[in-house]
Amino acid sequence: MSKKDARKQKSAKKAASKVAAARSFDTLCIQGGYEPQFGEPRVLPIVQSTTYKYDDIDHVNRIMTLQAFGHKYSRTSNPTVAGFENRMNALEGGTAAVATSSGQAANLLAILTIVKAGDHILATSQLYGGTFTLLHAVLNNFGIETDFFDPDASRAEIEKRVRPNTKLIFGETIGNPGLSILDFGKIAAIAQKHGIPFIVDNSLATPWLCKPFEHGANIVTYSATKYIDGHATSVGGVVIDGGNFDWTNGKFPNFTSPDPTYNDIVYTKAFPKTAFLIKARAQILRDFGGCLSPMNAFLFAIGLETLHLRMPRHGENALALARFLAQHKKVAWVNYPGLDATGSKRIKKYFRHANGSGILTFGIKGDLDAVRRFVKALKVAALVVHLADARTGVLHPASSTHAQMTEEQLRAAGISPDMIRVSVGLEDIGDLIADFDQALD
Ligand SMILES: *Cc1c(COP(=O)(O)O)cnc(C)c1O
Repeated sequence: MSKKDARKQKSAKKAASKVAAARSFDTLCIQGGYEPQFGEPRVLPIVQSTTYKYDDIDHVNRIMTLQAFGHKYSRTSNPTVAGFENRMNALEGGTAAVATSSGQAANLLAILTIVKAGDHILATSQLYGGTFTLLHAVLNNFGIETDFFDPDASRAEIEKRVRPNTKLIFGETIGNPGLSILDFGKIAAIAQKHGIPFIVDNSLATPWLCKPFEHGANIVTYSATKYIDGHATSVGGVVIDGGNFDWTNGKFPNFTSPDPTYNDIVYTKAFPKTAFLIKARAQILRDFGGCLSPMNAFLFAIGLETLHLRMPRHGENALALARFLAQHKKVAWVNYPGLDATGSKRIKKYFRHANGSGILTFGIKGDLDAVRRFVKALKVAALVVHLADARTGVLHPASSTHAQMTEEQLRAAGISPDMIRVSVGLEDIGDLIADFDQALD
């Protein structure tokens, strides 16, 4: 690319992002991140190609050494995947995004871009089961230690656990499956005071409900498999850079010292606003793999086109089902973010809509056999491990997703042995209530 072309491309990008910034959330769900020019496909096309063609070796050299942007190989970028990444970035209000092969890969990528052996992580105890085992067991084996804290502990209590080698704080907007909403203000204040980035997994809330960057998060991750897809078709993830963290504060030499694998580039110098994201893509994604396929990126982009229509209905259905269950004589307890005082307060403070998303949990009176019989009797809802589908699904976490935890770890994660998790879908609420009613009987 000539200097003139690069300038042109830069100013076109600037103009596009200005337009994007001026558009509403709902329009960005549908058109964000992909703006076809005259004669180009209206729908984000599937570019099923690993490879890209060039005219001269100097251009390839500039791409390979991060002096010019361009697709080189679909492990590190692809036009369809870029369309999805840009749409997510626009919805979240970040500076750049990178898609991954799964939500697990997204959290791993975000974490490994920052830490190395000998570093320490602080994470809330209310985490998705896979994230818990990743931090607790697998990364621990690589010399990266994680301390788990009760997200509702006092600020002083949490702060006591910050060590000189603590490199990040990790939490989920809506803890899975305890369903507590993160106290963003408290955690962000701790992260800021100690100069460490605050990573938020926003999978269950989506940017329709919550934009963590507006509440002090520095990096946002997703399992796109959930509400972003919304139809249970594809596994994938995404990491978004808020561009709001100072990596030059002395704690992150891996950002401020030369990377010999890229001609000694210094990420914070070369990319002041997107140092994290460029390092994630150019270094960790390049070497660990875990990239998203173009086909799945296409399906996620289609999923996003109805995010703003699906999320209100998921929340309405979940609230109605939660209220029905709460008054049922065979139900011991119900948990849904909008039902208790703390949840309601945090929804008001941190969420963009008065809506608690589509996940609820409850317990039925009786033993494990009662749970067994209830699940078997459901006809509209089905027993599935997945959540955030258009179809309603139920799961018994203690015997499935969180089966690897000890009783104490289960308690810390907010999981009781009788807990049934419901991912409330988009079906008619009358049909759903009738189904739960007959199964409880
Ligand atoms: C499902 C989930 C993950 C893992 O995502 P996969 O796409 O299944 O790898 C991570 N975090 C949360 C909150 C999830 O719900």
